[in-house]
Amino acid sequence: MSAATQYVVRDGIAVITLDNPPVNGLSNAVRTGLLQHLKAADADPAVKAVVITGSSKAFCGGADIREFNAPRLKPDLPEVNEQQDGMSKPLVAAIGGFALGGGLELALACHYRVAAPKAQLGLPEVKLGILPGSGGTQRLPRVIAMAEAVKMMTTGNPIPSERAKELGLVDEIAQGDLLDAAIQVARSKVGKTLPRIRDASAKLEEDPASFFARVREQVAKESKGYPAPLLIVECAEAAATRPFDEGRRLERANFDKLVSGPESRALRHMFFAERQTSKIPDVPEDTPLREIAAAAVVGAGTMGGGIAMSFANAGIPVTIVDTTREALDRGLGNITKNYSATVAKGRLAQADMDKRMGLIRGSTSLDDVANADIVIEAVFERMDVKQEIFRKLDAMVKKGAILATNTSTLDVDQIAAATTRAGDVVGTHFFSPANVMRLLEVVRGRETAKDVLATTMKLGKRLKKVSVVSGVCDGFIGNRMLEKYTQQAYFLLDEGASPEQVDGALQRWGMAMGPFTMYDMAGNDVGWEIRKRRYRERPDFVYSRVADRVCELGRFGQKTGKGFYRYEPGSRRPIPDPEVHEIIEKYRSEIGAKPRQISDEEIVQRCLYALANEGARILEEGIALRASDIDMVYLTGYGFPPYRGGPMFYADSVGLPKVLDAMRGFQKGYQGAQWKPAPLLVRLAEAGKRFNE
Ligand code: NAD
Repeated sequence: MSAATQYVVRDGIAVITLDNPPVNGLSNAVRTGLLQHLKAADADPAVKAVVITGSSKAFCGGADIREFNAPRLKPDLPEVNEQQDGMSKPLVAAIGGFALGGGLELALACHYRVAAPKAQLGLPEVKLGILPGSGGTQRLPRVIAMAEAVKMMTTGNPIPSERAKELGLVDEIAQGDLLDAAIQVARSKVGKTLPRIRDASAKLEEDPASFFARVREQVAKESKGYPAPLLIVECAEAAATRPFDEGRRLERANFDKLVSGPESRALRHMFFAERQTSKIPDVPEDTPLREIAAAAVVGAGTMGGGIAMSFANAGIPVTIVDTTREALDRGLGNITKNYSATVAKGRLAQADMDKRMGLIRGSTSLDDVANADIVIEAVFERMDVKQEIFRKLDAMVKKGAILATNTSTLDVDQIAAATTRAGDVVGTHFFSPANVMRLLEVVRGRETAKDVLATTMKLGKRLKKVSVVSGVCDGFIGNRMLEKYTQQAYFLLDEGASPEQVDGALQRWGMAMGPFTMYDMAGNDVGWEIRKRRYRERPDFVYSRVADRVCELGRFGQKTGKGFYRYEPGSRRPIPDPEVHEIIEKYRSEIGAKPRQISDEEIVQRCLYALANEGARILEEGIALRASDIDMVYLTGYGFPPYRGGPMFYADSVGLPKVLDAMRGFQKGYQGAQWKPAPLLVRLAEAGKRFNE
């Protein structure tokens, strides 16, 4: 008997229990055990009925995703399902916690399903770019209405057992003990005709042709860049129009196509990458954490307000401080406006808004942060101002509190040096809008204590962020890379492209937003300030001055109605502007550049490889712990398309030798001296290796 499953027969009922913590994933051992026990139960005359169950926390979380990267191991889940279909005795799934993916497919191949109250049932495969590969697409629409089945499979969102009961997916909700209830159902079905879902017809009342034409159109609109949802629809259509086994063959073929395709590989990479970020090699997982029961934010501006909201959303009381009543009221007013808009959209209950607002306390006195467990500074981006605040915090905040800075460009070690407790200082780089964006770069200073780092990472999780550790450097991981991307975007203007062409190429490739639309949104003055500093500090870093010309005319972007585009009053839609084309042409003639036709492919390569190249340096310098952390920064903070897996993963999938070749080609082009392939990239390319190994 396999250890991953248990088998007991009691009073004529065989109970097969999945025992593979934490989620009873369908490992090879579990599948082997299931198959053996099902066969044994069917062959044993003393057994009258069979129940499959898991733990109270989980019936079964589905396939082991790691297995997707290797050749399929036998027995696979379809083989188990076939055995289930062949059973001559009642087979009941007792679902506690959740039945997801392969777990629900296992339950669907049982004759009956009994679930605990509030158990979650779903087929989330689409979130990993694949589809239910073991009969899910064929069985689900035969047991619940086709429209509901398509919705469950194309969104991947689970439903609670109460809803599953209404839809007919669950036969009974256990009010008392789940296993007892399932055994009772099993016993009551002995000797009766057993309903097999595979023998039923799909639950579709209307003409399949018109129904699926409508569904296809809608799903196509919602799934840009992802092939899985439409292939799911194709399988669902087969469930309505073809025999079960034919539908199963189509499902298998589509599954194989998706699992080896680039989109699913990227999404699976992202799934694992997210779980890796919290692992810090020299900070053990059992590092004792500091308690965070109350927080404070200094500065009630754009970032401070969003950060305070993040705390309130997580149920952590937060004090927000600004220097004047006016600035504080403006900040609190923005928070109220923000929440009210969410309430108006129906996405937050008024009572919840009130509760959250009740957790936020405003003050104009820095003394009011003295008892906080963490203080996050989000004042103007000036070293003198920040150091002054940290000096004051050091003098008054309680011992053991974490002192964090939201700086985006300044040296966290220098800020820490203003205190006598550098070990308690850490960077928390939120992204705007801080209450929405998932990324949090946690900046580890030279002296940041391990428990401070571990506590801040854990806090990030409570705030529902993806926390990525970054070492101290200018721009940390994300913005440091972005500068190289930006450099190329501006060079492309010099060489003949327009902002809309660059944006269009990158957006069609998958970026949520092109660079020029993004600069207009963030404010061109922000980048201008940074460039002015760079001109003094980094003469080796060459910039096109074309963006300065745009800024010199006060074209700061959306906030001034003009930037690289123009904007109609009240609208955020960028409109190409002939005035900008003139500025660019004038600049080209100033520097003697002859415009040429530039392909979308070149635009994408220039910008994306610039990201990966700087990412390689960041990796080599130890600023990022791993390539997948860099990918997470871009996936969660910069609108990088999940189906491309992040800049490092993308370079890996192109192949590093090819990326390196392209860079060497760019070295011969305009401003080619700015292309210096990172030594790590060269080494990996030459060794035939990848960043994400
Ligand atoms: P902001 O100008 O909107 O807000 C700064 C606030 O700090 C103002 O309300 C100001 O009155 C207040 N302030 C100034 N000195 C203070 C003091 N001594 N005590 C208390 N309050 C004081 O700026 P922001 O955009 O919110 O940026 C804040 C910080 O966050 C900066 O370090 C910035 O680099 C960083 N940051 C900004 C963004 C962004 O997109 N805006 C993103 C990441 C990080």
